[in-house]
Amino acid sequence: MIKSNDILDELDNRLRQVSKEVVFPMSKEDKKLATDMMEHLRLSQIEEFSLKYDLRPGMGLSAVQLGILKRFFVIVEETTKEGDKEQSFKNYFIANPKIVSHSEELIYAEFGEGCLSVNREIEGIIPRYARVTIEGYDMNGNKVSYRGREELSIAFQHEIDHLNGILFVDKIDKENPYKDENKMRPI
Ligand code: ZN
Repeated sequence: MIKSNDILDELDNRLRQVSKEVVFPMSKEDKKLATDMMEHLRLSQIEEFSLKYDLRPGMGLSAVQLGILKRFFVIVEETTKEGDKEQSFKNYFIANPKIVSHSEELIYAEFGEGCLSVNREIEGIIPRYARVTIEGYDMNGNKVSYRGREELSIAFQHEIDHLNGILFVDKIDKENPYKDENKMRPI
């Protein structure tokens, strides 16, 4: 099981390095890591477990955040509908992702973009495409394509940045953290 302490903090230089392409077949260790990452995110979004194991809720993790500089990430998106008795989730794994198309429209996360590697309050906004289509590979090396909008679109872009050694805090304008706020739609 991945513990909160296993996740690299923003001061760790590995987070600023560009990760290497995943080569298939993936090793057993890397597949297990990806599965453990998804489990960590799922538990973090269930209050009982986030309290029990002291997990900060998160929806995305890239391998580099666990110190593995390979181009893959996981996202666990909550899909619970009103009236559901139990929480439900959709898991994404994607290796060697590329954004193949995106909307013109820009959005930003109104209450800040979170990151399990950034353990402090951050002021400012990050422009993101409202919709993206990404292509890449699943754990078995099959080609996959996903469309994300709104929060999921932000998550895809946030994780792809990790693979390129970029943290969301790096994208906030230092002089004016709310620059161009009125040119984008808050979500
Ligand atoms: Zn992050």
